[in-house]
Amino acid sequence: MRIPYIPEDAPFSGDQRAWLSGFLAGLHSRQAMGLVEPVAAVASDAKSATVLHVLYGTQTGNSEMLSEDIATRARGMGFEARVQAMDDVTPEALAAMRRAVLVCSTYGEGEMPDNAQLFWEALQASTAPRLEGLKYAVLALGDTGYDGFCQAGKLLDTQMEQLGATRLAARIDCDVDYEAAALAWVDATLPLAGESLQAVDTTTDAAAPAKSAWSRKSPYPSRLAVNRLLSGAASAKEIRHYEFDLGTSGLSYEAGDALGVTPVNDPALVASLLEQLGASADQAVAGHDRPLGDLLTHAFEIMTPSREMLAEIGTRARDDTLSHVLAGDDRAAIDAWLWGRDLLDLLRMLPKGAMPASTLLGLLKPLQHRAYSISSSPHAAPGSVHLTVASVRWMREGRSHGGVCSTFLADRAGAESGIFVQPNKAFRVPTDDNLPLIMVGPGTGIAPFRAFLQERQARGAKGPNWLFFGDQRRESDFIYEGELSEMAAQGVLTRLDLAFSRDQFEKVYVQTRMRENGRALFAWLEEGGTFCVCGDATRMARDVDTALHDIIATHGGLSPEAAAEYVNGLKRAKRYLRDVY
Ligand code: NAP
Repeated sequence: MRIPYIPEDAPFSGDQRAWLSGFLAGLHSRQAMGLVEPVAAVASDAKSATVLHVLYGTQTGNSEMLSEDIATRARGMGFEARVQAMDDVTPEALAAMRRAVLVCSTYGEGEMPDNAQLFWEALQASTAPRLEGLKYAVLALGDTGYDGFCQAGKLLDTQMEQLGATRLAARIDCDVDYEAAALAWVDATLPLAGESLQAVDTTTDAAAPAKSAWSRKSPYPSRLAVNRLLSGAASAKEIRHYEFDLGTSGLSYEAGDALGVTPVNDPALVASLLEQLGASADQAVAGHDRPLGDLLTHAFEIMTPSREMLAEIGTRARDDTLSHVLAGDDRAAIDAWLWGRDLLDLLRMLPKGAMPASTLLGLLKPLQHRAYSISSSPHAAPGSVHLTVASVRWMREGRSHGGVCSTFLADRAGAESGIFVQPNKAFRVPTDDNLPLIMVGPGTGIAPFRAFLQERQARGAKGPNWLFFGDQRRESDFIYEGELSEMAAQGVLTRLDLAFSRDQFEKVYVQTRMRENGRALFAWLEEGGTFCVCGDATRMARDVDTALHDIIATHGGLSPEAAAEYVNGLKRAKRYLRDVY
């Protein structure tokens, strides 16, 4: 599939050309992917009593998975459920809908996830449609550990109401352990959307995607077959390559997906906590069916203190500095005070045995899985799944501290680790093997691009591949150097641009290399290339985004506004993909 190309000599100004190019590209791929609803299909929604739209905004795939679950439940109740990413829904299509459940996660400090950004902009625009004919309900996913808890869902809920849509049920704001609450809300809300529906048997529903038996709640106990240090001895980091054996699990994945790993807490940390509590591992705790040691090992987050725990310690410890910081209620000051401290550091501000075990458990959050971008293609690594992970370790006051899952993987995962696949359909190798692929993945952000390159190689894709990679020092941090060189020699990796930030006085980052090669990068985009970014969201991905806009403006001869529209066109066409957090 070639993206429609506008000839150089066509009578358009730079701005018109950018807009048209983005529009055509978006339309073309949305049609090709079956995402643009024909007018007849939109109109039929109004006639049908049973169509229920489930629209999701997702960054890591949770909202998408939940939307599929909602659709399955809705089909069981007799609805004709249609699941779509929010950015695939035009304002006109939204206005023609009669019933919709919106499932949206919040990203960063209260932002819309990537694939809800354009949808949100359209809802806020002066041209936004009126939605009087639409009944809706919002299910918001978030994390109470962050500011702006469920902010994206809250914004959508309010805006839909302001555009005239009718709320079917009050919004639900779900924390990280969302499944039970979310599905109870769904079961209570869906009947409000349907009139005279007949329950149907969905066990053979062809529209429902086949689901793996292994999930977040029921992970596959896999053997860690390979645990290899990638970074050099002189590196400031410890980056490791892992390979999990998929055995007879039947687990399948695609390049671009993430792997959920269920960690087990460090037994040494559990022992130190028990000592500080003045409790024993086999102690029973009221309201729990497992002994305390088991709960601290498998059920609760014992590294990062919750906000409630911090407040409780503040009340009990009577520490002047902490009291002052908490009284200020300034998130940045609280984070600065917390930096480097874990739960044990906080408990040690109290006398031993001062906090009863039941109080402690009431202030802890459930232990969550961690999701890592998969760094293999199933075609190159049949029967196994690979990860590329930086171990998080630091010292504070003579005690070693560690990240929950990265140290579990590095030090303790072995015979058995609970894993499951978290699909990320929005982050995929382009379907057209002839089109160019540009990948920006510094540090462990290289992970999915190793998978993408393997995938393109396995498919025999003819389209050129360009990787921007970097880290602190070439000598110790050029991970996968051998593999990348081999791929370059085989012609799979067409271009490799490296940015080692600390090998010279001035910082050189991946966006430095992008700018240096801006003309060629723009040419690849004009040829229909897909631009992908993976890694740190807060600094790197933002700076890369700025560089991309600048390159398009400079080499496309566009104003900043037209360059922004060009980038929006890439997003609509699924040619600007991000896997960042
Ligand atoms: P990192 O900390 O991102 O560092 C990699 C390189 O990026 C270093 O050379 C660093 O330089 C440089 N860098 C620092 N600030 C930058 C900026 N504003 N723009 C561009 N480059 C910049 O590498 P890492 O330790 O591997 O961490 C990667 C991050 O990505 C982590 O936060 C990880 O959680 C995240 N990650 C996310 C995903 C995902 O979303 N799926 C997957 C993998 C990794 P200096 O240190 O010299 O400044």
